[in-house]
Amino acid sequence: MLSINNLCASVEDKQILKGLGLDVKPGEVHAIMGPNGAGKSTLGSVLAGREAFEVTEGSAQFDGENLLEMDVEERARAGLFLAFQYPVEIPGVSNMEFLKASVDAVRTHQGKPELSSVEFMKLARETSKKVKLDQGFLKRGVNEGFSGGEKKRNEIMQMMLLEPKLCILDETDSGLDIDALQTVADGVNAMRSPERSFIVVTHYQRLLDYIVPDYVHVLADGKIVKSGDKSLAKELEAKGYGWLEGEVA
Ligand code: ADP
Ligand code: MG
Ligand code: MG
Repeated sequence: MLSINNLCASVEDKQILKGLGLDVKPGEVHAIMGPNGAGKSTLGSVLAGREAFEVTEGSAQFDGENLLEMDVEERARAGLFLAFQYPVEIPGVSNMEFLKASVDAVRTHQGKPELSSVEFMKLARETSKKVKLDQGFLKRGVNEGFSGGEKKRNEIMQMMLLEPKLCILDETDSGLDIDALQTVADGVNAMRSPERSFIVVTHYQRLLDYIVPDYVHVLADGKIVKSGDKSLAKELEAKGYGWLEGEVA
């Protein structure tokens, strides 16, 4: 699904990623944890193709293709979903219009016909129920005046509608109350399948009680410095990150 080798990337001439490697197979859930400023969000931005981030070395293959050569829209159409890509507010464009346009773009890319307005409306209503978002949110401007929790529910709704192959969630849990956290986790768990993979960036072990990962990685100073199973997240919660410096050295 995703194969990253020796990825080096900089932003404003400052090197952030320093030889990062990661392999994600279909169906796997990988959690990435690590100290503030380690480069976790930078990794997401580089994979999404954000312009400010310059790849200086290394490679990233997505579904057999050179991800780094694709532009932002191509990546999305090819099935990459980045949960922090969408919480921008777009006043004047209804959530429904925006969601339909996103879904149509992906369907067209896959050679499927666009959904009719009626079909899409039905699907959007069903999906909004799953994430416990009132249907009124479909008519409102994209994220306009949504609370933090509502934005996250909306993001998960977008993810469910787009049916991506690889979902990257960057600190989707920060600022969520327990109910919203549970809804987000239920949404992710409902989408888990042998064909779909997830990369979940989180600061807290708590999310991983709900979304149980196959692998946990520690990203520190621009690289993956330790990998393990879900027990590693518990160990990090108990011990912090300091002990890893000795281990890495
Ligand atoms: P994390 O998500 O692990 O907390 P980030 O990837 O957000 O870390 O940031 C890694 C480093 O890159 C930080 O030192 C941060 O200040 C820097 N950085 C990230 N984005 C930018 C940017 N747009 N301009 C300048 N520096 C940036
Ligand atoms: Mg940060
Ligand atoms: Mg971050």
